[in-house]
Amino acid sequence: MGLEIDRAEGPFIYTTDGKRYTDFISGIAVSSLGHRHPKVIEAIEQQLDRHLHVMVYGEFIQEPQSAYARLLTAQLPASLDRVYFVNSGTEANEGALKLAKKHTGRHKFVAFNHGYHGDTHGSLSVTGRDVYRDPYKPLLPNIHFGNFNDPKALSLIDSETAAVIMEPIQGEGGIIPANRQWLQRLRERCNEVEALLIFDEIQTGFYRTGTLFAFQYYDVVPDILCLAKAMAGGMPMGAFASSSDIFESFKHDPPLNHVTTFGGHPVSCAAAHATLRTLLDGDFGTSAKSIEQTVREVLVSDGIVEIRGRGAMLGMELRDRELTRQVVEDCLEKGIILGWTLHSNTLVRLAPPLIIKEEHLRQTLTEINNSVEKYSK
Ligand code: PMP
Repeated sequence: MGLEIDRAEGPFIYTTDGKRYTDFISGIAVSSLGHRHPKVIEAIEQQLDRHLHVMVYGEFIQEPQSAYARLLTAQLPASLDRVYFVNSGTEANEGALKLAKKHTGRHKFVAFNHGYHGDTHGSLSVTGRDVYRDPYKPLLPNIHFGNFNDPKALSLIDSETAAVIMEPIQGEGGIIPANRQWLQRLRERCNEVEALLIFDEIQTGFYRTGTLFAFQYYDVVPDILCLAKAMAGGMPMGAFASSSDIFESFKHDPPLNHVTTFGGHPVSCAAAHATLRTLLDGDFGTSAKSIEQTVREVLVSDGIVEIRGRGAMLGMELRDRELTRQVVEDCLEKGIILGWTLHSNTLVRLAPPLIIKEEHLRQTLTEINNSVEKYSK
């Protein structure tokens, strides 16, 4: 986009040339509380005055880590009572894949076409898009891809499968929600063959889709839950949660199975704690749902083929690639930052911060709708 950033506050990003932009993508689903939320900044400042990095994750007892682990797991079902901190989304998925292998003693994985799990080798191996994978082959062996929402994909899951990894709503693949019944059947199939189910909620987490986590809407509890992005209010952090039983296998042979120097950085943990506390004290599920309602009400131009997704994780599918380019450019000109998804060039990603005011939201959406009208004539 070529924007040179000066500062960012709430739903706005300011560039060095003095322009103000409405952030309608939230750093790709990161700034759910907006930029520099006061509670997050306060927690970061307090931690800065205590200590920064002191030791490789897990060696010392560090209060910001243990306090956040307690707060996070208190929001999760009893079967997700342990959490391991890392630095990013892809690292959370790497940890989850390793944990599934170690726990089950199996090494086959089932993943989905158009799924996206990150760009390190393990995560890339289960990412369902050849254009990203091909240049780096050979990747991990024994990965089997099914079609998302396709009942036939369930037959790929068998007694050799360590785990199924998936996003409850595919993000980069084009904002495609899983079908509820299909997901429930997939959970049953995993139980039948004792394969683990890994939910990559890196993008869907922390109220983005209207519930704290998307699995709550689906009524399907994964065996491993991967988180990152919005977790620490703009600081880098990731995590994977599972049961103490499953994590048991990570404690031995070798004694340290997933060492990370910076994982669970105290400043990130302090920021994550403040972020989650603020989210829980507010009514952000309702905010996400009402964002969806307003989007569906205002974006009605003929050039729009479909609005899909859930809560504030939405995609606007436009008629063609040229129209999409024109709309994104025109909106940027008008001071609205719109996003794309990695795998589609006719889909505009809509992921405003959950703190956006209704009037500001409506006005921004009206401008987007006007751009679509203008270029689809
Ligand atoms: N999984 C999903 C669903 C994602 O959307 C992303 C990032 N777009 C990742 C994993 C990778 O996260 P990170 O960029 O923090 O490694």
